[in-house]
Amino acid sequence: MGSPLLNVAGVEVSPDHYIDGRRVASAQTFELFSPIDQRLLGHVAEGLDEHVDAAIRAAERAFPAWSALSAAERKPLLDRFAEEIGKRAEALCVVESNDAGVLLSRMRHGVVPRAMLNLTWFAEHALTLQDRTIDTPQAQHLVRHDPAGVVVIITPWNSPLLLSTWKLGPALAAGNCCVLKPPEWAPLTCSLLADAAHAAGLPPGVFNVVQGSGKTTGAKLVSDPRIARVSFTGSVPTARWIAQAAGANLVPCSLELGGKSPFIVLEDADLDNAAATGALMYRNAGQVCLAGTRFLVHERIAPRFIEAMRGYVDRLNIGDPREESTEVGPVIHPRQVERVKAFVDRAVAGGARVLWGGAMHPFGAQYVQPTMLTDVGQQDEIVQNEVFGPVLTLQTFTDDDEAVQLANGTDYGLGGVCYGETAHATAVAQRVRTGFIWVNSFGIRDLAAPFGGIKRSGVGREGGDWSFEFFCDVKDVVVPKKPFRASFSQR
Ligand code: ADP
Repeated sequence: MGSPLLNVAGVEVSPDHYIDGRRVASAQTFELFSPIDQRLLGHVAEGLDEHVDAAIRAAERAFPAWSALSAAERKPLLDRFAEEIGKRAEALCVVESNDAGVLLSRMRHGVVPRAMLNLTWFAEHALTLQDRTIDTPQAQHLVRHDPAGVVVIITPWNSPLLLSTWKLGPALAAGNCCVLKPPEWAPLTCSLLADAAHAAGLPPGVFNVVQGSGKTTGAKLVSDPRIARVSFTGSVPTARWIAQAAGANLVPCSLELGGKSPFIVLEDADLDNAAATGALMYRNAGQVCLAGTRFLVHERIAPRFIEAMRGYVDRLNIGDPREESTEVGPVIHPRQVERVKAFVDRAVAGGARVLWGGAMHPFGAQYVQPTMLTDVGQQDEIVQNEVFGPVLTLQTFTDDDEAVQLANGTDYGLGGVCYGETAHATAVAQRVRTGFIWVNSFGIRDLAAPFGGIKRSGVGREGGDWSFEFFCDVKDVVVPKKPFRASFSQR
């Protein structure tokens, strides 16, 4: 029997797990609050050992039949899954806005359409995953992509629906069965996702949702020897734990982690365009792993760039994410607010100068002013560590070599932005050591393209063929061309 549904701004959401095609309540629950106004949204099922076990068993049971289907046979089910997401579009928007503080407008225009595409695109792309043959004089190699088995997906709170479907799409399309552990600070859209999967007729056990805290439920899932893959997006310290736990069973992990990406403004940049894009770095209250958070600006244009960007930042609409006109909403959780404030306080105590912001915003308890700090040194904590809030730094440089050196001077290597005359900016961008970098633009992400970071920003790539490389086992079936006769002298 399922628990009574929560009512989140008029939308009914199950607080239970979704295991083996059924809602499963828990003897333990955790409280969930809205970042908008700290109101209690409800009590959500905590994943206990028995739930983790049941979900993995259900996924294991479902695997033989689901993996035996062809990609063409799985596709209609995944298309239907996407349709069911579409039918719940407004509910998903309202719930994630209340639960995670994501802008309602961004949910409507960006996240929900993309969540649907994450399923349909990968279902379609799986059709292109033909068995490949390699012909040699000796043998024919039939190279297959076999689904790996039970995949554990662990996602963070800054964009739960988007990031969960980004992993679910290819994992399911490739023929795996999944257990999703949503973020405990924002689990509710993943619960609606389970409703969509159910309505679409996904066979029981193919997709399971177990809610709960990372340190207990998440840790239990990733250390289970029955699983075949872990796909994780989150912080570096958590990734270390996960990689160790999964590593003990030699389970491969894909880790999409944080960033401290450079936003380079060369002397020949279109300053107004660069400044407008610069203000975008406050999107989602700066809780975006791929944002450019370290501004590196040529010293000769720095004063003009700062004034141009200040103009855009001054005009940002900060407030309730449910309002269509809002551009910057709340920080997810009081603990995260404290963390962000402490970063700023330590930086200022260490000599950083506040160009703008630097304090709480009067709109509410979890609203931090968009902040820019300068007079910071490369080795300062604020330059080296990810804040994950609306706090940026600005350093200047004198030539390309120095820009590249500063850009590459952290342990992170996720993304980057480079503004300048196109050929010049492209040349500089090529020298920045990251998983991706945008030239005179930001946020262009195609599902066919690889996504991921280097150094502390991650291990592995997802997107396009790379997702299937990760979620599949590559197998070589070798058939000799001439009759094979056993011989000990054979080389
Ligand atoms: P953040 O610091 O941004 O909250 P985390 O990396 O801690 O990000 O969390 C991202 C996801 O990882 C969440 O779903 C969280 O519950 C989960 N998580 C946290 N700790 C662990 C762990 N030890 N094992 C597995 N999952 C975890």
